[in-house]
Amino acid sequence: MQREEALEKIAWYHLKQLSRDEATELILEFFNEPLKPSLRQKLNLTAVLQWETHQPPTDLQPGNPIYRPILLEKMKEPFRGATNEYLVKHLKESLGLEVDQVIGELPTWLPCPVCSYRTFAVVGDWATCPVCGWVSDPVQEAMHDDPTGANGVSLNQARQNYEEFEAITQEKLEELDPEAKAKYPKSA
Ligand SMILES: [Zn+2]
Repeated sequence: MQREEALEKIAWYHLKQLSRDEATELILEFFNEPLKPSLRQKLNLTAVLQWETHQPPTDLQPGNPIYRPILLEKMKEPFRGATNEYLVKHLKESLGLEVDQVIGELPTWLPCPVCSYRTFAVVGDWATCPVCGWVSDPVQEAMHDDPTGANGVSLNQARQNYEEFEAITQEKLEELDPEAKAKYPKSA
């Protein structure tokens, strides 16, 4: 199976698990985010116009098919950087599908400066590494001993902590997904 097809199946599966409130929240997020050209192409004109004015309807119906491409995109996001092996495992274990392999190239994500797993789609956008909890902060990544910033610990301290207990801080350790290490490729 091709990666894109695997992501599509996974997205549909997770879309069906969404509650009405969760779906509404994701659609509202969309109205405050930049609109990627690839998503814009899939959207109905009404949804594009609503986005352009950043005005969701007051009686937003999350089940309306005009919002489906937005939700599918949101469901794919947590799997975009996952390895093919991880996608196979997820298709088998969560979706109950018999899949031998997933093929296709992974996007070239950036390695986390702390744990080296490729968990960042872009540099310095304040995303959180799901493996170690490091928040991508361009200032802290330039000044390795500076604890001021998004992380509360310096990059060097975070690296030391990761070696010791596999998270940048004890608090972060509790929030991390133990599966994340199996999900992302590690940089050589
Ligand atoms: Zn990391």
